[in-house]
Amino acid sequence: MGLYTKLPEDLQEVDVIIAGGGLAGCVVAGRLAEADPSLSILIVEQGPNNYAVPEIIHPGLFPRNLHPTSKHTLFWQGNQSEVLANRRPIVPSGGTLGGGSSVNWMVYTRAARSDYDAFDAPGWSADELYPFLKKFEKYQGKGSKDHHGFEGPIGVSSGTFRGKRGEDAFIEAATAVGYTEFEDLQNLDKNHGTERWLRYVAPNGRRSDAAHGYIHPKLRSGDFPNLHVLVEKQVVRVLFDENKKAVGVEYQTNAKFQANPEMQVALQAPKTVRARRLVVCSAGANGTPLILERSGVGNAQILEKAGVKVVEDLPGVGHDYQDHHLTLYAYRTNLTKRETLNGFLDGGLDIQEAIRNNDELLGWNSMDASGKFRPTEAEVEALGPEFKAAWEKDFKDKPDKPLMIIALYLAYFADHSSLPDDSEYVSMANWTAYPYSRGHIHITGPGLLDPIDFDVGYLKDDNDIDLKKHIWAYKLQREMWRRMPIFRGELATSHPKFPEGSKAAVIEKADGPVFDGDKRIEYTAEDEKAIEQKIREIVSTTWHSLGTCKIAPREKMGVVDPTLSVHGVTGLKLADLSVPPHNVGANTGNTAYVVGERAADLFIKELGLGQQARVDSPVDDGQAKVESPVADEQAKEIKIFSLFSVPEHVAFATAVRVILVKAPKPRPDGLSCWQTFVLKVTPPLRLTGLQPP
Ligand SMILES: Cc1cc2nc3c(=O)[nH]c(=O)nc-3n(C[C@H](O)[C@H](O)[C@H](O)COP(=O)(O)OP(=O)(O)OC[C@H]3O[C@@H](n4cnc5c(N)ncnc54)[C@H](O)[C@@H]3O)c2cc1C
Repeated sequence: MGLYTKLPEDLQEVDVIIAGGGLAGCVVAGRLAEADPSLSILIVEQGPNNYAVPEIIHPGLFPRNLHPTSKHTLFWQGNQSEVLANRRPIVPSGGTLGGGSSVNWMVYTRAARSDYDAFDAPGWSADELYPFLKKFEKYQGKGSKDHHGFEGPIGVSSGTFRGKRGEDAFIEAATAVGYTEFEDLQNLDKNHGTERWLRYVAPNGRRSDAAHGYIHPKLRSGDFPNLHVLVEKQVVRVLFDENKKAVGVEYQTNAKFQANPEMQVALQAPKTVRARRLVVCSAGANGTPLILERSGVGNAQILEKAGVKVVEDLPGVGHDYQDHHLTLYAYRTNLTKRETLNGFLDGGLDIQEAIRNNDELLGWNSMDASGKFRPTEAEVEALGPEFKAAWEKDFKDKPDKPLMIIALYLAYFADHSSLPDDSEYVSMANWTAYPYSRGHIHITGPGLLDPIDFDVGYLKDDNDIDLKKHIWAYKLQREMWRRMPIFRGELATSHPKFPEGSKAAVIEKADGPVFDGDKRIEYTAEDEKAIEQKIREIVSTTWHSLGTCKIAPREKMGVVDPTLSVHGVTGLKLADLSVPPHNVGANTGNTAYVVGERAADLFIKELGLGQQARVDSPVDDGQAKVESPVADEQAKEIKIFSLFSVPEHVAFATAVRVILVKAPKPRPDGLSCWQTFVLKVTPPLRLTGLQPP
């Protein structure tokens, strides 16, 4: 199998190197391999393999990946910030094969149509990207079929569980304060309402991540001998020849995965591997600009100060860092242990036993309801003239753009031992869909161990518009909570410290719902100050880093052109969330898949691949067994279809062998289950007389 921690001696040169095996990197590698299995591809990933790792494949264990000792996550230390109550924020990102898709919270949301149109780049409008939005997903939710994809490698479903009482409470409370429930809020146009969320989880309850979707099935099939993955190796820099063509990368062992890290760092010499055709940087919005800068591509002044020889002066690199900004508040509920995910966090549920029993809670991410929210005209007015001006400029005429996303997480993510009682506490999240604040991320020296200069930028915008959005959303979520029958109080430590006697004071214990008709909570100027202070103390990342090497002309601080080529050099492409020039009003995983698919399509065409038959991606063996709940005759038909899913015009194709095993027990409805265990692909053959079914 082509997955190594040490490159084989005979693999010192490949056609394509992908620096960073994260979400988009896996998509690009997988699609290039499908387009031409003879193309040699090497992913170099700084983190470990993610195959079948329990805290990755079981959605319910996702909070463990944010533990500071997690080997699957990177923790980027931000600079101290006065506007954040002097905190030094930390921004985690995926740090294993599959990147963010292996550790993220699996929430399925999509950007707004106007977000992609604003990219203002040929090939990147919403209409042009729609086929790629559909291509990667295997959607199993509500809504019009026109808007979704059903054949992709990434499952989108409810998983194995929904916290129905919490979900209903959120949706009904939002309706009570004026927000409609939609069947499908993710069709790029719908906004200003709520939805029962789906997740990147297969119906069998397994996380659907980019590596398990695009890479592992190919590696394990043995039919893609030219697809290679090198893990636990950090790309230091891209190597250029005298014509500024990217010809390979320098990498070194990630000491984090060695028994004696300090000694390993001291002993190791960097190694190189060469690329004949292309180097693709897919190290994420934080990793990619740092690799570019260490390679000599970036703002010349920053490079010179860091002691790096300038290859190309490109000031846009690492500039304009963006994220979404999150605040979380906790509430006391009358939910039971098995209606929240807390049992996996406070030790109330035995994780090993849950895994042994395939507990349905393991296939759940605790997030069942959310909404995209906009203020009323009166609320806009009340937020002041500066806010109103921003609203009129950027939101008023773009009805698909939410101001804030508000979501219910049926779990409490902080220290459970500090909770005042044994009730089930859960969290409500507010995050800014399009923050105005910007930061930056740069190197300060030539090596991997040199500190980074990382300004997250939160709450730094002029006129505090981002702060005002958070104040508005806090008030709104409190109104919603007080209308919920599951409400049993507000956790005082997680809410603002309102002044003594305030009408807005926290209610620590009460049987909900607790509201008085249409009356809203009243806030004084001092109360608003208390909310502002709390926001400064708690606002943090939504783990949605983006936009540090944007698609734009270099005069506009762009780093790549619309074909994702880095300005001023050749043979170097970027494919990850460093490239979106503007933010998207959604969790960013979806956009990362779209960037990966779009990038793969561009590279396939540019490299002249895909002229021969494509090899369909094999079904994963073991990890995602396919059960077809259909009658025997239909099952055969379906499988034959997948055997010969070869486009009519293709003269060469690949012979495929599927072992179908009929499950021993029929389903209660009398239908048989068929399991696809292995999908074998032999070397390309000429096929004659084949008719598409
Ligand atoms: C905790 C968390 C929760 C999230 N929740 C959601 C969610 O619920 N829904 C959603 O849609 N999105 C979510 N996201 C965001 C989403 O996962 C990311 O936007 C997405 O993964 C970004 O994709 P990418 O390809 O740009 O980068 P990544 O997926 O981060 O991939 C970058 C890869 O490069 C590797 N790398 C970095 N530096 C180097 C180097 N020097 N050498 C070699 N390899 C390197 C990293 O290890 C990583 O594997 C979440 C993210 C996190 C971290």
